[in-house]
Order: sequence, then C-alpha cells, then structure tokens
Amino acid sequence: GVLGSVYDERPWLALYEEQIPTWLEPRFGNMLQLFADTCGQHPDRVAVTYFDAQLTYRELDELSDGVAAHLAERGLAGGDRLAVYLQNIPQFVIALLAGWKCGAIVVPLNPMYRSHELTRILGDAQPVAAVSSEQGWHDVLAELAGPAGISTVLTTSELDLQTRDDERVLGSSSRRPAPECADLLDVARAGAGSPVPRADPDADDIALLVYTSGTSGVPKGATNTHGNLVFNSEGFRARTRGEQDGSGVFALAPLFHITGMVCQFGAALALGGRLDLVHRFEPGVVLDALAEHRPAYMIGPATAYMALMNHPKADREHFASLDLVYSGGAPLPSAVVESFRERFGHYVHNGYGLTETSATATSVPAHLEAPVDEDSGTLSVGIPTFNTVVRIVDDVGEDLPQGEVGEIVIEGPPVVPAYWNKPEETAAGIRDGRLHTGDVGFMDAQGWFYVVDRKKDMINASGFKVWPREVEDVLYTHPAVREVAVVGVPDQYRGETVKAYVSLRGEHSAEPEEFVDFCKQRMAAYKYPRTVEVLGELPKTATGKILRRELRGYRPDPAAAA
Ligand code: AMP
Repeated sequence: GVLGSVYDERPWLALYEEQIPTWLEPRFGNMLQLFADTCGQHPDRVAVTYFDAQLTYRELDELSDGVAAHLAERGLAGGDRLAVYLQNIPQFVIALLAGWKCGAIVVPLNPMYRSHELTRILGDAQPVAAVSSEQGWHDVLAELAGPAGISTVLTTSELDLQTRDDERVLGSSSRRPAPECADLLDVARAGAGSPVPRADPDADDIALLVYTSGTSGVPKGATNTHGNLVFNSEGFRARTRGEQDGSGVFALAPLFHITGMVCQFGAALALGGRLDLVHRFEPGVVLDALAEHRPAYMIGPATAYMALMNHPKADREHFASLDLVYSGGAPLPSAVVESFRERFGHYVHNGYGLTETSATATSVPAHLEAPVDEDSGTLSVGIPTFNTVVRIVDDVGEDLPQGEVGEIVIEGPPVVPAYWNKPEETAAGIRDGRLHTGDVGFMDAQGWFYVVDRKKDMINASGFKVWPREVEDVLYTHPAVREVAVVGVPDQYRGETVKAYVSLRGEHSAEPEEFVDFCKQRMAAYKYPRTVEVLGELPKTATGKILRRELRGYRPDPAAAA
C-alpha cells in the first residue's frame, strides 16, 4: 500500500545488532569474478576435497579451463545451456566453472532423475551439451541426448578422483563411456594450452536454470542470475562477519539443489574456503568425512541432522571441528535443534528460502538463536537476509498486520527475475519482483518469521520436493488404476514421505506392492510411494474433485478398504 506497512519498516533490522551490516553491496558482478578473486588471493588453498582426493584453487581453475576450451571448441557459447547430471563430486564444480567460463547457463539435473523427469526438463531447457556420470549416461541419458539436441557429452566416473578403495560406498562402476563421449578429466588435463574462453557475464545474465515445481506443481526453470548467486554467496560471508574466512564447508546438501549450490559452493568461494564433498548423503560416510576433513561450517536439511543423530557411531568428536551449523530447505523441528545441541554441543541455525530466492530468504544470524512460537511450538525460520523484504499478505496480495497468518511474499536481490520460457507462470508467481511463495506464515513483533503451512500440496521428503500430481500421473498409467490421490504422511526419517490411495477399475484386482514397484521403476527414488492403500472409493467434492486434503488426515477404516 501507499502508506507502507509494518514490513516496510523492517523491524528485523534491529536484530542485526551492529554485528552485521544492514545493507550488502556485493563486491562482484558474476560468479566468475568471485572465483577469480579467491583464486588470485589463495591459489594454493585447497578448494575441494573428496575422500582422499583434493584440488587447490589453481588446479580447479586449470581443470575448468581445459573443459571450457573443449566445450567452446565444440560451440558452447554465451547463453547456451550445459546440463550437469552428477552427484557431489569435484567434477561437478569443474563442469560448473567450465560452463560459466563459456558464458553458458548451467542446468543442474538431480542424478536421481530418470527418463520421465529428464525428458521434460531437457525439452524445456534444450541444452546443447551435457556432463554426466558414466552410469547416468548409460542408464538414462544416452537414450535421451540425441533426440533432445545434445551434441557434446563429457562423462566421468566418481572413482576417477577417488583413491580410497571402498566399494560399499561407491558401488562398482566398471562401465565404459560410450564411444561418442569424451572423458571429462582427460579433456580437463589435455585442455591446458588451448585458447580458453573468458566470459564476463552481466549480473542480470542467467547463471543457472534450476528446475523446481515451484508454487504450482509444473516443473519450471528458475532463472538464477549471476547477480542472485553472488548476492547470497557474499551474504553468507557478511552474515558471519568474515569469521569463517578460509574455513572448510561441509556439503550435506546436493550441489544440484540451490541450497547446496549457494550455501555450500558459493559460501566456500566467498570465504576463500574449502568445500568438502561426499558423493551423496549417507550418515556413516558423512561422519567419517567430518572426522577426516574437520570442516568449520555445514548446512543441510533437518532430516540429515536426524539421520546423523540416529547413527550408532555418531559422537561429539565427529562434530568437534564445527563452529557454525545451518539447516535449510525443509521444516526444522525445535526438538531436533535441542537434541542436536545436547548430543553434539552445536546449535542448529534455521534458514528458509526457495529455488526462486537463490537459497536464502530468511535465516537465523550466526550470533543469535531463533525464538520458538509459544502457541504452535514452531521454530522461527529467522529474519530476512540483506536488502530483502519479506511480507505476509492476504488472498489479494495486501499486507496483513504483524502477527496475522498469510502467504509469505519475498522481494529483494535474491529473488530470480523469471521462470524460463514461462511468461504466464512468471506473471502469476513473480509479480513486480515479488515472489509469491505458496508458503503460509507470520511475523512476530520483533521481526522473526515463522512458516506454519503450505498453500500447495507439495510433499517435502528430506528437502526433496515431491508433487502429488506427478506421482499420480504415473499411477494413472497403470491399467488397474481407476482413481488415485497422492499425499504426504509423517515419516520418522524423511520428515514426510509419499503415500498413494488408489481405487481400482471394476474388473481388476491388485496388491499394493504392485503399485509401489510400478512407481519405483519409473521415477526418482525419493518420489515413489512408500505405501499404497487400496480404497473402494476416494473422497470427492460435489464437483468430483478428489479431496487430497481429506486423505492427508485419513485414518484407515478396515471395513471400507477393498
Ligand atoms: P526448494 O525450491 O526446493 O528450495 O523448496 C522451497 C520450499 O521448501 C519452500 O517453499 C518451503 O515450503 C520449504 N522450506 C524451505 N526451507 C524451510 C524451512 N526452514 N522451514 C520450513 N519450510 C522450508
């Protein structure tokens, strides 16, 4: 409104308490400038570790030069898309920097995605080149690449930079790259000497297309610009007052997700620090790596902390090197914060954001602890990050008074300008630079924010977002299925997990396990329903719309089940 509301007054600024600046001027216009600065200052510092392997900043620069030269020679140029289909291995970082050096837009692909998901994303993003794990290439991508218009492929094995003999951790990967592909590390090492592209993108240029189902359930690419990424990477450094400079950053979150990309990789660059990687989250492996690399900072979803606490070998010693612990991407129960502190002596700082806010929108400053709302027991997600205003609005987008519950709306430098190729979705979700999150929450009198619910039907399984529609669409292709509704149900390990209710076509009969297997073969492992319940009839509105919400609270009635 014209008069300005309580959110325009930004009450949270008082909580910054002179510890951190209230306004942030990023030092750089793009991620390559940030990288070059760190590289120039600390060329011999370790940039990335992976089990026993490590790369210094200089090595990372040289290897990514080699890959950039190779890709540029094959035509990868400004604005082209480069798909990266890898786990958390150093080659991910090499590929990312190489893509940016060509001026390309990097499209990170969840390595759990299978053809169903990849087909949609590749069709929308239209990458001309891809970097993939050997396994991902052979299992899935090889079939899709040609039809999708990908002409250049680099593959790599997670074993290449890894010297520890641990089959249990890495699995065996004995397959060979397909003949038409080059090997990423061969190319990286051979590239030295060739002319290297030196793109210098504008802050408004897109650095990443990160696919998210966002607020409406249709997968779409959030156009994270170089300015967005630099801002939140630098924001992390400013928030910690430079105290973490040179620190090790442990990557609990996947790099293909915006939290991993910005709060881990971006933060490590801004700190001139080290990024400690394990290929994927596995509590026992993480504990070993923590003990070995002794990082100072880590971030991951709440469920990662629950899994670490539940591991029989976890003790204080594993976490002794840490002095800053953050959680983000999914709800953080205050009970988890308490028990983590009790067991390991560290307070877990909450952070909230979306792919569309380049990770962080609100966070608990390092020098503070978040309040817990007395009525609901909900832990605050923190206060808005630098130069960012968060509002609580009603159904028509008007600011609500302090304390009232409504939709969370975010505006400021972390907010992406648009969705890729989706003007209508952009107009609906990001109006005048204001992101309508679909999350529901409120602000207390001091300016702390709380997330209480979601407007959307999204299921949050350990930070992985599952859209019921997508799982339902797959189940609807099963010949025995008449109707289906997919909902999130509480889960001890994942926070939430996927459950499907189905009713059957008259002439069919089927066991629930058959539907579980059916889905398992067709989608990423975190998405398939862990349980399927067969009902005679699904609850519906008068107009015939299936009542998903009703099923969320549904308690089985043995008599009604078919
Ligand atoms: P993504 O785009 O995958 O990062 O997912 C963003 C969504 O995750 C948000 O819209 C929220 O629903 C949820 N989320 C992220 N961080 C938090 C948090 N700290 N507490 C509660 N929900 C969160």
